[in-house]
Amino acid sequence: MRIRALSVSPAALLFASATALCLLGACVPATPGPVSAPTMPTMPTMEAAPQTRVAAYAQGPGLDRSVLDEGTKPCTDFYQHACGGWMKNTPIPDDKSSWTRSFSVIDEQNKLLLRAILDELVAQKSQGVAYGKEMADLYGACTDEALINARGGAPLDGLFKTVKALTVGNLPETLAALHANGIPGFFSYGPTPDAKDSSQMIGDIVQGGIGLPDRDYYFDDDTKSKELQAAYRTYLANLFALSGKKPDEAKQLAEDVYGFEKRLAEHMMNKVDRRDPQKVTNKMDLAKVEALAPGFSWKAYLSAQKAPEGVAINVSMVEYVKALSARFATEPLTAVKSYLQARILTATASQLSKPFDDEAFAYKKALTGQKAREDRWKRCVGLVDDAMGEALARPFVEKTLGDGGKADVQKLITSIEAAMEQRLPLLAWMDDETRTKAFEKVRAIVNKVVHPSRWRNYDGLAVKAGDHFANVLAAEAFESARQVAKIGKPVDKEEWFMSPPQVNAYYDPQTNQMVFPAGILQPPFYAPAHAKSANYGAIGMVMGHELTHGFDDEGRQFDAQGNLTDWWTPGCVKGFEERAGCVVEQFGAYVAIDDLHVNGKLTLGENLADLGGINLAYQAMMNDPEARATGSAGFTPQQTFFYAYAHAWCTNQRPEMQRLRVKTDPHSPPKFRVNGPLTNLPEFREAFSCVAGDGMVRENSCRVW
Ligand SMILES: [Zn+2]
Repeated sequence: MRIRALSVSPAALLFASATALCLLGACVPATPGPVSAPTMPTMPTMEAAPQTRVAAYAQGPGLDRSVLDEGTKPCTDFYQHACGGWMKNTPIPDDKSSWTRSFSVIDEQNKLLLRAILDELVAQKSQGVAYGKEMADLYGACTDEALINARGGAPLDGLFKTVKALTVGNLPETLAALHANGIPGFFSYGPTPDAKDSSQMIGDIVQGGIGLPDRDYYFDDDTKSKELQAAYRTYLANLFALSGKKPDEAKQLAEDVYGFEKRLAEHMMNKVDRRDPQKVTNKMDLAKVEALAPGFSWKAYLSAQKAPEGVAINVSMVEYVKALSARFATEPLTAVKSYLQARILTATASQLSKPFDDEAFAYKKALTGQKAREDRWKRCVGLVDDAMGEALARPFVEKTLGDGGKADVQKLITSIEAAMEQRLPLLAWMDDETRTKAFEKVRAIVNKVVHPSRWRNYDGLAVKAGDHFANVLAAEAFESARQVAKIGKPVDKEEWFMSPPQVNAYYDPQTNQMVFPAGILQPPFYAPAHAKSANYGAIGMVMGHELTHGFDDEGRQFDAQGNLTDWWTPGCVKGFEERAGCVVEQFGAYVAIDDLHVNGKLTLGENLADLGGINLAYQAMMNDPEARATGSAGFTPQQTFFYAYAHAWCTNQRPEMQRLRVKTDPHSPPKFRVNGPLTNLPEFREAFSCVAGDGMVRENSCRVW
């Protein structure tokens, strides 16, 4: 799965390994994957302040001048000018590590709406809602804090028993049992479309199972990194102590597990290489996997997972899997057991009683700077959204945009695609042969908006009233079985990889689809009542961003049908790479925080998408007679367009979160997502009369799409 999302939720950045759901704390796939807002160890209080802000945004169409910093000129630093007033006057809520004027505000608003839906279900007031009882029981058990606290660490017994029974011979079956319950360890196995035949699902083995956010965290030796390593080791020691070990033993176990993870991390593929489809495409049959990594019975593992036989497997990280096989031969059984106990504890701590939950939060605090935990109800709304997202979404979409707004949104997408077709002939670096195929690819894009055309089936998901922990495991097991069942079958092109309430969007290169859930089709991104120029600048740019992902350094390698093929002529590849190199250099020069630079290579795909997105949206606005004639708040239509763009990215972020993001997030920091593309745009200079020498005018502009 190689989905490219518009943004990454703070919580999704925290864990390095992948599982099917995010309930148990492992949400960032090693290959760029769907990025949902997972249920995390926190969850805040709905204070009066954010609620008021939510209401204000929901009502106010058009631009808000109070957001601006009038003391900074647009041509000096547009992000500061456009967002400075807001940044100064908007503290980050204690229960958040970052706060964005668009994403966070809409997300809070969505959560309130989802809460109201769930409260009604719990009170049995909404008869006739599909899976209403299951959702009510799932939510009800999750919010029963007293019962969760009374049970302490007892719910862990079953999982611990599985690890206790581990022998040299049954490691494959033990791992399969843990993976099936959402507990990560060593690697993950799931479905992926065959890179060369995107119509078929094959198996996929992906590295995973470490507790720091990324492999590099084990090796960085600056002061801040060392502090995080220490915080993680303390977290492990405290969890072991809570599970019944004596303090000294708990401390020793934590050190052992940390060393164990570091030895795994050594062989893991880094995040820049993971973006390269060629490097993570290694299809083989089971015999070849067994020959590649003979220290582990993959056959026994797959059989325990009930994976279909005879289906090809993609080994995403060949060197890691080889090293893992050797590791299994040398690590003592007791070390493997301690490592797996640590995985169980870190994956489940936030689903257990307060002492466990407190430890999970202390570690999260060290990583993100978040000051206070979110209220439990928010965490529980997140749980239902993760576990039964398409059931919860059905009443949600009725209360938001609904199907009525679909036509207008689709019209906007069509105008963005038309802009791409208009620009393709103007690209001097592209030859006609490649251009013809690029046209084919644009015309083949499938767009999905608001909600899936076919809702998911949750029959067989066993939810019990009053047993939160069992429900979480049941949801993981249900999802894990669903994922494994996809292997060996045709790709289901109707499936969505984000639930409709998510404030996000994505492009999937392997199905050549763009998806815009109901969650993001709200102010300030979009409102039918907004000036059209503002809609183009905000949601139009998002649409252009997703479309450009089909043509970024990664997406361009997939053809109109989603197959990884070399459809570009060598000369055209050279032209593209030269232009992309300009963007790598531009963003690599930006300093995100302290001495940490933006990683120009890691963020290339997103930066290309932002730059292409703003170009396409501007072109589409100028093609629309009504949009190019109507501004807002006294600004010209062109200025309105650029303000609406910037206003969607105004963000305040804690320093810890800034560091976490710059080290792991393929998206650039918000300031550079705005200023980076705009400094390359003659249209921006013209709109604000900027001249050479101004901060917002780059001498050597980058132009790609
Ligand atoms: Zn993106």
